[in-house]
Amino acid sequence: MIRFLNLHKSFGRHEVLTGIDAEVEKGQVVCLIGASGSGKSTMLRCVNGLEDYQKGDILVDGERVDAHAPSIHRIRTRVAMVFQRFNLFPHMTALENVMEGPVQVLREPREEVRARAEEHLRRVGLSDKRDFYPSALSGGQQQRVAIARALAMRPEAILLDEPTSALDPEMVGEVLSVLRDLAQEHMTMLIVTHEIQFAREVASNVFFLDKGRIAEQGLAEQVLVHPQNPRTQDFLRRVR
Ligand code: ADP
Ligand code: MG
Repeated sequence: MIRFLNLHKSFGRHEVLTGIDAEVEKGQVVCLIGASGSGKSTMLRCVNGLEDYQKGDILVDGERVDAHAPSIHRIRTRVAMVFQRFNLFPHMTALENVMEGPVQVLREPREEVRARAEEHLRRVGLSDKRDFYPSALSGGQQQRVAIARALAMRPEAILLDEPTSALDPEMVGEVLSVLRDLAQEHMTMLIVTHEIQFAREVASNVFFLDKGRIAEQGLAEQVLVHPQNPRTQDFLRRVR
């Protein structure tokens, strides 16, 4: 579904991704872990063209990602993104936020979109909040709206960049629970997270990123419980 082939990415002269080879298969939940500054967000942002890259390839279902080509718009509808800070439209209600993509980007009929948007809000437990503006919602509720908004595009995969790290501790659970449900429904997801326990529970595979390179990857249990690389071992000791 998503393939990274010898991916190199620089900001100016600073190379932050130094040859990434990895693959997220259809239906897999992959957690991407690693220290702050290791390149996790950059790796995700390259997948839907929020950043370009200098060398190597990213393929989404066989189609090459090129941030500067018109095809990037199509790729963005196929691979949705959920950000750490929700990024909801502040002047739109929860329901309008969820409807915006399908109406404006996919050009789908408003009434159909509305019915599906209500269904997505129900799925994340927010039916009763559909007419609320983001400012009237808690962080956990805003992030669940953001997930409903991603789902409304009927994506083939969802990228999530630390979806719970901007939340107060008491709201982390409600967002992880929504992600757990999606994992059970085999939604393809690549999730940057520091929640190691959650990763153990939902991830099929884990990538450990270290200084712009995947130092270790494999089955979640293998990487998180029996890491082979001393850097992975050290990282896990520090975040636990
Ligand atoms: P992580 O998400 O793992 O914390 P990032 O992908 O955000 O790491 O950053 C990786 C490296 O790239 C860091 O050294 C960061 O300072 C640098 N970086 C990220 N975004 C930019 C940017 N827009 N311009 C210059 N450097 C950047
Ligand atoms: Mg980051």
